[in-house]
Amino acid sequence: MYKSITLRKACCGIRKMEPLERALAGKKAWITGLRREQSGARSDVPLRDLSDPRRVKLNPLADWTWGDVWHYISVNQLAYNPLHDQFFPSIGCAPCTRAISQGEDFRAGRWWWEDEAAKECGLHAKTVSPEESTT
Ligand code: SF4
Repeated sequence: MYKSITLRKACCGIRKMEPLERALAGKKAWITGLRREQSGARSDVPLRDLSDPRRVKLNPLADWTWGDVWHYISVNQLAYNPLHDQFFPSIGCAPCTRAISQGEDFRAGRWWWEDEAAKECGLHAKTVSPEESTT
């Protein structure tokens, strides 16, 4: 996956997309933690994505900020991944995730050797325009 974007996306396809597709088979809905603030590619994530006729995709945190998430965790005393305390704001597979430095983008530690525009594994490939969904 370090040699080319094509190979990296093939790895994501085998290890993430195909298993997810099997897990979602026959399901009418799924819920994600996508937030618009996470990246430019996610800036128009709708609360309810109706673009896939097989199932609705619900993104209840779409308009939450990083601060909103940590406030909710604190107020409700929720458990969270300890890597967040080690400067991993976005956590993926170990070979493809590193800690970030102060001032870096939230997702700078994901596939850090690639261009910014390529930084999605495909699980949340954009298939909807804002007009097609209810926000
Ligand atoms: S994030 Fe990295 S290790 Fe994980 S599936 Fe994608 S390429 Fe493979």
